[in-house]
Amino acid sequence: MATMTAGPSAAPIPFLDLVTQHAALEVELVEAFRRALRTARFVNGPEVTAFEAEFAAFVGAGGCAGVASGTDALRFALSALGLRPGDEVITTPHTFIATTEAVTQAGGSLRFVDVDERTMTIDPRQVEAAVGPRTVGILPVHLYGHPADLDPLLAIARARGLWVLEDACQAHGAKYRGRMVGSIGDLAAFSFYPGKNLGACGDAGAVTGTRPELLDAVRRYREHGQGEKYYHDTEGYTGRLDAIQAAFLRIKLPRLTAWIEGRRRAADWYRQALRGVAEVQVPDEADWAHHVYHLFVIRADRRDQLQAQLGKLGIGTGLHYPLPLHLQKAYERLGLRKGSFPVTERTSERLLSLPMFAELTEGDVARVSDAIRAFYR
Ligand SMILES: *Cc1c(COP(=O)(O)O)cnc(C)c1O
Repeated sequence: MATMTAGPSAAPIPFLDLVTQHAALEVELVEAFRRALRTARFVNGPEVTAFEAEFAAFVGAGGCAGVASGTDALRFALSALGLRPGDEVITTPHTFIATTEAVTQAGGSLRFVDVDERTMTIDPRQVEAAVGPRTVGILPVHLYGHPADLDPLLAIARARGLWVLEDACQAHGAKYRGRMVGSIGDLAAFSFYPGKNLGACGDAGAVTGTRPELLDAVRRYREHGQGEKYYHDTEGYTGRLDAIQAAFLRIKLPRLTAWIEGRRRAADWYRQALRGVAEVQVPDEADWAHHVYHLFVIRADRRDQLQAQLGKLGIGTGLHYPLPLHLQKAYERLGLRKGSFPVTERTSERLLSLPMFAELTEGDVARVSDAIRAFYR
């Protein structure tokens, strides 16, 4: 009984609906779990190596190393790239804290630059000026599923002898000038946190890249620094991809392209339905980008009131992210004041993430959009 009218009696529209996705896959997921129980292969083994090969093929990268989370993927990739204490990494304050935690935890220092107003990803023009004597690498984030502008970053990196690590944790399947993210920088980090476009039923992550020696280093870090069992080149971590999660991811990966199409269709519906609402700016897709809409983030006047009103109507929303990293208590030590990164700061006060998932219907999008129009009327 679908209804097109917004009102408190209408069914809620969640921000993200994983229950529907999993209902369609339940038989296969349960079978994969049963297989794991019967073989008792919970750590490493054939599911992990098969998923690594399948995900590397999807991304078009030479190889893939499964790890326990996206944060581990970033951390191990940074260590594999040779990050040492005192080394500086350039990234943006407009991201999830995992990006910067990884730099610090791998022993590096942070150098922030602002994002580009249109793409909400790192502004290459500001990166050039930020490169200093201690800079070793650039860490662009393909935020919300929109790729960062990689060519100018790669040019800067090549000229200055830096590496580029892609934070692709929100961007499985996104393309930059026709090439998949995760196959372009020196290494790339993916997260399979349940809410990501490709999500496990728990925590999981992966590093992709084309240089085998770097991927081998990631494989050592995920397993206590050992190449051969009980022979440790360095200290490492317990950071492996769980075999049951790998089996679940193998069931979902063949559906990812269709799910991305579903998200892009929903994004088109939103764009049409919100056209002409002066108080709302819908997300841009650069002409060189294939956006995968992990999040559909509008910028809106009177954002907090709008969010509260949508909440009253049973429409789930989110804020990604409400407080820029340089203004977080965790980064007080950097001594960066308000005003340091104006685009990030201005955006953080206006951004609002609308419901976005592959199964969203045109009726759902119409209801959300009608509610937004009604709010400004
Ligand atoms: C989710 C995410 C991460 C971290 O992934 P986890 O799997 O949660 O550790 C890193 N960077 C960005 C931009 C993310 O969205």
